[in-house]
Amino acid sequence: MDRIKVLDETTINKIAAGEVIERPASVIKELVENAVDAAATRIVVEIEEGGISYIRVTDNGRGIPADEVPTAFLRHATSKIESDKDLFGIKTLGFRGEALASIAAVSHVELFTKTREESFGSSYKIAGGVEENLSESGSPDGSTFCIRQLFYNTPARRKFLKTPMTESAMIYDLLIGLALSKPHVSFSFINNREEKLHTSGNNNLKDIVYQVYGRDVANACIELINADEKSSIKGLIAKPSISRGNRAFEHFIVNGRMIKSQLLSKAVEDAYKNYSMQHRFPMVVLHISLSGEDLDVNVHPAKTEVRFKSPQAVYQAVFDIVTASLKSQVLINEADLWSNKPDKVIRNESFLREENKYTTSEPKINENNFTPNINKKENTVNNAKQDSGNTGFHDNNKRDVEYYTERMKERVRAYYSGETASETPKETNKEAPDELPFLREDARKFHRIIGQVFSTYWLIEFKDQFYIIDQHAAHERILYEQTLKALREKSHTSQQLLPPLVLQLTLREADILEQHMDSFTRLGFEMEDFGENSYAIRAVPGNLYSLNSKDLFIEIIDGLSEEACSSLNPDSIDEKLASISCKAAVKGSREMSEKEVQEMIGNLLELENPYNCPHGRPTILAMSKRELEKRFKRII
Ligand code: ADP
Ligand code: MG
Repeated sequence: MDRIKVLDETTINKIAAGEVIERPASVIKELVENAVDAAATRIVVEIEEGGISYIRVTDNGRGIPADEVPTAFLRHATSKIESDKDLFGIKTLGFRGEALASIAAVSHVELFTKTREESFGSSYKIAGGVEENLSESGSPDGSTFCIRQLFYNTPARRKFLKTPMTESAMIYDLLIGLALSKPHVSFSFINNREEKLHTSGNNNLKDIVYQVYGRDVANACIELINADEKSSIKGLIAKPSISRGNRAFEHFIVNGRMIKSQLLSKAVEDAYKNYSMQHRFPMVVLHISLSGEDLDVNVHPAKTEVRFKSPQAVYQAVFDIVTASLKSQVLINEADLWSNKPDKVIRNESFLREENKYTTSEPKINENNFTPNINKKENTVNNAKQDSGNTGFHDNNKRDVEYYTERMKERVRAYYSGETASETPKETNKEAPDELPFLREDARKFHRIIGQVFSTYWLIEFKDQFYIIDQHAAHERILYEQTLKALREKSHTSQQLLPPLVLQLTLREADILEQHMDSFTRLGFEMEDFGENSYAIRAVPGNLYSLNSKDLFIEIIDGLSEEACSSLNPDSIDEKLASISCKAAVKGSREMSEKEVQEMIGNLLELENPYNCPHGRPTILAMSKRELEKRFKRII
């Protein structure tokens, strides 16, 4: 057995470095946090080879006075706290005084720094914890840290690094988080001499979201409601239309410190769940400020975790604020129908006039359409059956046929026995729970479908709101998402057209069709070239069976004209074809019965974005009872 001895400083630093510095991203996190603590408003991070061979972090902060430079690299040397009493109520990101010592222990470090008060700056070199040089140098105000050959003296650690590409991706994600946590600081990230990220640091969180995630995400962001001005929770959450498959877009910042927190994730996700599909995660940026006593930040060497004094209260506050914010938007556009000029509307409202008294129609409930619909669907089923005998009929189609046959039998049975085909018993006489959103499975039993107006809009009462669903827009959205899903999962089904539809095209139209034949096939169309610009359409995508007229096809082909597609890549062309096909399919479909509307609402529930048609028009509008009461001057 060797004798027990105290380890030398270099060895201690190397061991300790392992806790703080795991990979290039951790070096950058520490250096950027130091820059923020030094009141920098502009931070530039440059890397090469994923940060393994080279990292440079430049800031315009306070700088380090020449006589303090070597001290800064000693373990437990910090300017940020004086004693343990300061550990509560820490305002800075750093406080442990170990980052620079740890980094210097496992790499070659060069520092250029200058305070505003000094006329000359300093340059300092340290490698493997051993000081190499300190001299005067003409540096600009602020600090620049260059880190070379990370883990050159700890090969075991180096072995654990991922490829440069993966390491840079981690750094990129880290900087996005930092930029969102410090919206008043401008960040740049340069990877192999190419700028990958730039934020303005204008302190407007939405602008920063735009700069890091782009326009779609920024536009979908809702500002968290501030219940009271002093509220300690602020931030943004994106509408579920752009939800994500993992937690990479969840950003939690507590007292300015970017952290990971299962508690906060859960609070946000629990609130969000009510408005989104299952297993989707939000893009959220949550800034929470708590007083020092309510928080312990000294839990983890990398300072990525905190301990809340009253976790339950934090959970509840976050859950409530996210719920209230999402609810306020209910993610359905509040109808602005009469908002501006109520007087004018009443004057023009002709149904109030005497001569129109008898022509005013009651909202029409399309009970009668039920039978024809059954027939129509039965026809397709029969067609398919006949077909399955002699042509190579898709397996998927067989399953579809069986499914539809069963469904039809059920519906016919239900129709003749006078039951409703919907499995959802109505409970409109009962009170729907306050928190229940309109588009949720368990809300359906509280929907009261009033009827249809103008053969297009369905009116539905639910709690103290009435909703107007644009049947065509909603139908289009449903078909569109089904089609894209089938495309993504390569699981499309085709519905045979019997007899096939024969199109005689112009040269130009035939050209377009030929050009996009692959897209048509990927979506589930089956076509055959008959020569001389004529084509037989043998099958259409399974859910677009109403695409059965020549006009609709010509419309689709028109939609794919060169002007419309010139700037699109193949994936976007598939999507475009899906979108115009669904639009055409909706045009070709007949009226819906109330029961089909119920089914449609059921389908809407399963969509990623039930709130807009593929062309961006809203599918659902809402108007509150209160709003109506205001319009009728029952309340002021
Ligand atoms: P900590 O951040 O916990 O204090 P560090 O080892 O990260 O410990 O840094 C040690 C000290 O060096 C800091 O307390 C600070 O005074 C100084 N320092 C480090 N980086 C900078 C910088 N970019 N600008 C100004 N001062 C810095
Ligand atoms: Mg630090």
